Amino acid sequence: MRRWGSGRSGTVLYARARARLNAGIACALLTLSAAACGPSAASDAPGDGKGRPAPRTGFSVRYEPPSAPDKANAAFLRGRRVLEQASGDLNAFVSSERLGQAVAVVGRSCGGEGSAYDPGARRIEICYDDVAQERELFEGAGVRPADSEVAAVLAETFFHEAGHALADILGLDLGDRAEEDAADQFAALMLIRGGPAGERQLRVAAREYELSAAGDAGTGPADEGGRDEHSSDLVRATNHLCYLYGADPVRNAGLPGKGLLTAERAGRCGEEWRGVREAWQERLASVAAPSDRSDRSD
Ligand SMILES: [Zn+2]
Repeated sequence: MRRWGSGRSGTVLYARARARLNAGIACALLTLSAAACGPSAASDAPGDGKGRPAPRTGFSVRYEPPSAPDKANAAFLRGRRVLEQASGDLNAFVSSERLGQAVAVVGRSCGGEGSAYDPGARRIEICYDDVAQERELFEGAGVRPADSEVAAVLAETFFHEAGHALADILGLDLGDRAEEDAADQFAALMLIRGGPAGERQLRVAAREYELSAAGDAGTGPADEGGRDEHSSDLVRATNHLCYLYGADPVRNAGLPGKGLLTAERAGRCGEEWRGVREAWQERLASVAAPSDRSDRSD
């Protein structure tokens, strides 16, 4: 998940995470539609893997064969059905018919590039190797087993990339940093819609940003000249916590005043969250599924 890549150009991938410089970057930037960055699928057509045709619109999941080191990671991702569940939530929220576009959600070996949205291919790539990276991060912080944490971060990653996909399809012209923030906010929206279980996943995603920030202290790309369009990991973590508290201050009463969310910021989170939610409701007004058009309008 450590891919550096974001920008308005249609030739650049949109990643969830800030990336350390590595060999995957050149690969990511130079070979967007070619299959030169690790093993690739025999077929590019999304479907159910059983020979049935892919849906013509909406988000549909498929898996490329994993590289040898990724076999266990791929088995975990498939076994937890993270992508199927998240795509299902999204297809219930956004009308496939109104969206009028198909977005492939592809589990694949990325050779360390990191999960991303590829506007050229109109597909969300979720990397098997993210599973191992996230597991290492959480286990390094003493969380064992870290299965549910890994699944939570991957769900949040998927929804972040889905936010980029929707911005692309809807032609939202937000600007680089604003689109990254909007993608984070879309992830928060989708997880908070999931109730207590989704909120727990969002708390885990915030924790992941916090752990990443600790691991990157002083060495991230943002500290080396601001080449990355994402907000800093600590800012992203704090925003997620703020949205959680703003959405349900009772259930998340323990968040303010300790850790990243200050009591002062917490006092504004209700308003912040309403703004975030309403902004996405407006952006999605033309494609919202019928059952979602009138709810949560308070
Ligand atoms: Zn992004």
